[in-house]
Amino acid sequence: QKREDVRNVAIIAHVDHGKTTLVDELLKQSGVFREGQNVAERVMDSNDIERERGITILSKNTAVMYKNTKINIVDTPGHADFGGEVERVLKMVNGVILVVDAFEGPMPQTKFVLRKALELKLPVIVCINKIDRPEARPDEVVDEVLELFLELDADDAQLDCPFVYASAKSGIASMDSAESGASMEPLFETIINYIPAPEGDPEAGTQVLVSTIDYNEYVGRIGIGKVDNGIIKVNQEVVICNHHAPDKQVKVKVSKLYEFDGLNKVEVKEAGIGSIVAISGITDIHIGDTLCSPDAVLPIPFQKISEPTIAMQFMVNDSPLAGLEGKYVTSRHIRDRLFRELNTDVSLRVEETDTTECFKVSGRGELHLSVLIETMRREGYEFAVSKAEVLYRTDESGKRTEPMELAYIDVPNEFSGAVIEKLGQRKGELRNMGSISGGTYTRLEFSIPARGLIGYRGEFLTDTKGNGIMNTIFDGYAPYKGDIQYRRQGSLIAFEAGEAITYGLFNAQERGTLFIGPGEKVYAGMVVGQTGRSEDIEVNVCKKKQLTNTRSSGADDALRLVPPRILSMEQALDFIDTDELLEITPTHLRIRKKILD
Ligand code: GDP
Repeated sequence: QKREDVRNVAIIAHVDHGKTTLVDELLKQSGVFREGQNVAERVMDSNDIERERGITILSKNTAVMYKNTKINIVDTPGHADFGGEVERVLKMVNGVILVVDAFEGPMPQTKFVLRKALELKLPVIVCINKIDRPEARPDEVVDEVLELFLELDADDAQLDCPFVYASAKSGIASMDSAESGASMEPLFETIINYIPAPEGDPEAGTQVLVSTIDYNEYVGRIGIGKVDNGIIKVNQEVVICNHHAPDKQVKVKVSKLYEFDGLNKVEVKEAGIGSIVAISGITDIHIGDTLCSPDAVLPIPFQKISEPTIAMQFMVNDSPLAGLEGKYVTSRHIRDRLFRELNTDVSLRVEETDTTECFKVSGRGELHLSVLIETMRREGYEFAVSKAEVLYRTDESGKRTEPMELAYIDVPNEFSGAVIEKLGQRKGELRNMGSISGGTYTRLEFSIPARGLIGYRGEFLTDTKGNGIMNTIFDGYAPYKGDIQYRRQGSLIAFEAGEAITYGLFNAQERGTLFIGPGEKVYAGMVVGQTGRSEDIEVNVCKKKQLTNTRSSGADDALRLVPPRILSMEQALDFIDTDELLEITPTHLRIRKKILD
């Protein structure tokens, strides 16, 4: 049976193509913004870091009413797949809206999400947005989208998709690129007519697959999912079929049930097939669980969450730099915060280690962990991190395998040589190369061991003078590709402050803040490193005596510091990029190395 009064759609867009504006406008025109509420309030993408990094990590739900139909809009995580999240989100919907800037055209970052949507045979509505831009070139962009569909193996029905031309900013849409339209109605109508209504058996036992977990300090864990069959009611008993532990079936009572309404969750007494619901009050609820009627326990098959591929140690920073300590500094603080993160992030692992000061955190790629680090630092947590290390596995025949990534790179033509050379040294294999943006940019596609990318982002930005775009997607495990041998150079700067000496290799990837205070000695020199692994040197805080042995990160690294010199402040400045300087006074420099991911 079909649920004609509901439509479930996911929205896919490259950052800045107008997804938030569009959803805001749909809300506004469906009357959700009541008097006094700020129309410009951002609905999706509320996380600053997501915005800065040009990605969306958490999927969020919004619902709008159009005539008598409820449209649930689910946000999709931008380009990265943090452990199957994209797929889980797409399983809740019957179609997607692809938002594309009428000038920029489709961007590679959305390719992965789009590919998943096409593989799942979901119909796609293409919304060419920003049609009001003077440089808009909608007809060409349509061709580019169709080319992309062909490249991603869209089927005939998908290729026959509707195109809606919109100016989300002005709140108008049209089915014709030459006409501007009067409201968002054409988009609403296309959603209703083109996206199939959800289907299920209302008479069958309850089946709700939990697709995401939300967490709230007051109510705890909140499971979000779609009602696939039957109905779910408050006070009803359900069995939670845990996909991690198929034998473990816990019976619980549904105490609170919500549906989405505009930007909010509202409590409801019951929900039927096709509804996207949130359930609170069940502590033991996990992604992938199916809530079933006790008399018909039928778990819905679940896409396994992909395992972490990379790990880092998070540790108490025992020599925080003067004046820069965070609010939360103890191992207890860090531990609690990390374990709290597990409530909503299923692809993360946190383990305690031999020392209480240190935790091993594993995730899906360097970007995944660096987003967490940055979030925590902004919240006021002070901690140090080790370098990322990839997690190797052993295949059936006992051979070592390692995580691989696909890297999609767009660079101005003049930099492509440098990128190809660097990634080649890091065991990257060039799969595809083409010309884009009227021949001024080169698009490169590499298959590369994940360890080859560790620390590469910073170099990439330097090598392309900030004009390159790189996106990476996990591509499974493959036999170990052998040691990476390459040379790297950079200027080294170190300073002495009390017992501790902090140093970092500049012009290389490195994180944290260097604080050079009164009376502190500044050293600098060249580092020439030959590494057996794909590793970099990063800011470390070490005891004074360790400086005499030049430090390196991997056991098989051979690093030389040639020769360390004590510099004046002015000389030290030569080693620092001006945009990294936070403060210069006669007695100190404060330097913030950007996290270049
Ligand atoms: P998101 O990152 O995809 O959520 O994009 P936003 O909705 O935040 O929009 C990014 C920028 O594009 C903002 O400055 C918007 O004001 C602008 N924008 C959004 N829609 C339109 C549009 O239809 N026309 C024009 N000219 N600008 C738009």
